[in-house]
Amino acid sequence: MKITRVETFLVPPRWLFCRIETDEGVVGWGEPVVEGRAEPVRAAVNVLAEQLVGQDPLRIEDHWQVLTKGGFYRGGPVLSSAVAGIDQALWDIAGKTYGAPVHALLGGNVRDRVRMYAWVGGDEPTELAEAITAQVEAGFTAVKMNATGRFPSGGSLGDIRAIVERATLAREVLGQSRDFALDFHGRVTVADARRVLPLLEELQPLFAEEPVVPENSHRLRGVVEATTIPIATGERLYSRSEFLPVLQAGVTVVQPDLSHAGGISETRRIAALAETYGVHLAPHCPLGPIALAASLQVAFATPNHLIQEHSIGIHYNEEAGLLDYLVDPSVFTFVDGYARRPEQPGLGIEVDEAAVRRADEAGHAWRNPIWRHDDGSFAEW
Ligand SMILES: [Mg+2]
Repeated sequence: MKITRVETFLVPPRWLFCRIETDEGVVGWGEPVVEGRAEPVRAAVNVLAEQLVGQDPLRIEDHWQVLTKGGFYRGGPVLSSAVAGIDQALWDIAGKTYGAPVHALLGGNVRDRVRMYAWVGGDEPTELAEAITAQVEAGFTAVKMNATGRFPSGGSLGDIRAIVERATLAREVLGQSRDFALDFHGRVTVADARRVLPLLEELQPLFAEEPVVPENSHRLRGVVEATTIPIATGERLYSRSEFLPVLQAGVTVVQPDLSHAGGISETRRIAALAETYGVHLAPHCPLGPIALAASLQVAFATPNHLIQEHSIGIHYNEEAGLLDYLVDPSVFTFVDGYARRPEQPGLGIEVDEAAVRRADEAGHAWRNPIWRHDDGSFAEW
């Protein structure tokens, strides 16, 4: 079997899909994207495709090595995400060729269902109680919310209290048996993370995510040591080498994105590395259906997987949603807040190719907002 064609599709709301075709008619799908930077990833996939056409798609590891390292310069979000989407598509082809779901090729399922969490609120969340209640009624046992919106560099007491008050409200609505996680999006400084996290401890969040930006990873140990709240990070880290320092700093949860951190192949290695630190895996996935399908395949096969993010109802998806490009959207029906084990060969979804081709004609130009502080200076989004 040989790869004959690699195509990319820029589809709303903010995704990029790739489709890899073979001379035996087996087709694999992947989702190589950086949110807000889809076009450069598309260009990278097109360049990497030169290495793939004419090759055996089943030599996934060899392709990963060549695509990641063969250009001399390596790493970073664009190249790593291009490799990630291609890697997903190659695993999809392998599963369809061998007639098995990807998790079976990874050693078989280690669990029968996967716990999911739902997003509540947007970047500047309001009506938090209503949003949480709706997700509880939908069956979820865990939610995630932004800890704060735009946050000044050097927060006031009022800014710190606002984080505590919203988290307190979340705990009140959820009661004592359900969980919430707080995503800081790197919006606070190391000093403010150390101020606010101890104040949140009695509320027992499941984890505090990205308390500081990845550029400050060398100071993460100080954040970890300031609190008993489990610290999570990793959506802006792209390889096992980049996860090693945060593991050494003492994080509790690593969050590689299947579409950024080298795909299924590298995420499995990151999970194994995390296991040596007694650390959980909770893949980042505010993305589309192929990224979620890849995440779930890893979740079913990975012992230290904790919980899975998904993008149904997420505030970013306005023009299109997770289920719009699937022939059978019921694969992502969650029962009691858990995903069921996919049994179809490959990634376990059937992409609606006609819908994808139509959507690509319109394309998208999604960009994240640029935020500014009250004094006009740049603010982290
Ligand atoms: Mg996050």
